[in-house]
Amino acid sequence: MNVEPQSLEALIGEFANLPGIGRKTARRLAYHILTRPKEEVAQFASALENASEKVHACPRCFSFTDQDICPICADRIDAHALCVVEKSSDILPFERSGIFKGAYFVLGGVISPLDGIGPEQLHLPLLIKRVKEENIEELVLALGSSPEADSTALMIDRMLDGVNVKRTRLARGIPMGSDLEFVDEITMLRAFEGRVSL
Ligand SMILES: [Zn+2]
Repeated sequence: MNVEPQSLEALIGEFANLPGIGRKTARRLAYHILTRPKEEVAQFASALENASEKVHACPRCFSFTDQDICPICADRIDAHALCVVEKSSDILPFERSGIFKGAYFVLGGVISPLDGIGPEQLHLPLLIKRVKEENIEELVLALGSSPEADSTALMIDRMLDGVNVKRTRLARGIPMGSDLEFVDEITMLRAFEGRVSL
């Protein structure tokens, strides 16, 4: 007999939809929530709602912001270097290490035919437009180290055929398939300083 109330089951289901959370962990989290004081749970719910309502993609770089334009875009409007990352959180290791003083562009993923992600699902056309229209001298492709990231970098390179912009990528050294977001400062400094031309 299933003894879990339907609303609890629904909560478990929501947790299980999150990345990296299996059914077991989802159940543990849901049961934990139910042991917390009501005000604490309300705070949690309102934090979720608030973030989802106020945070949106910056219209210039597609990183998450709660302003009209993100602080980095606002501050580095004349940047001549543009660093292309897969997702918003990949900007964090660059800013933590302070190695990069240019602007960013969040692609929204990497090309992955198996998952049905082609160039049109990403912000690729906008990236190319921006590079062509603005005075960008260097494009740093920091898309991680998966085969999908490699083919995405290659595609960007091809789409910029004939455009006078230096294309570089981070040095190897970031573990294969690892999330850029969690790369430590030293690894990031090395990977950035050792970046190579495409
Ligand atoms: Zn921005």
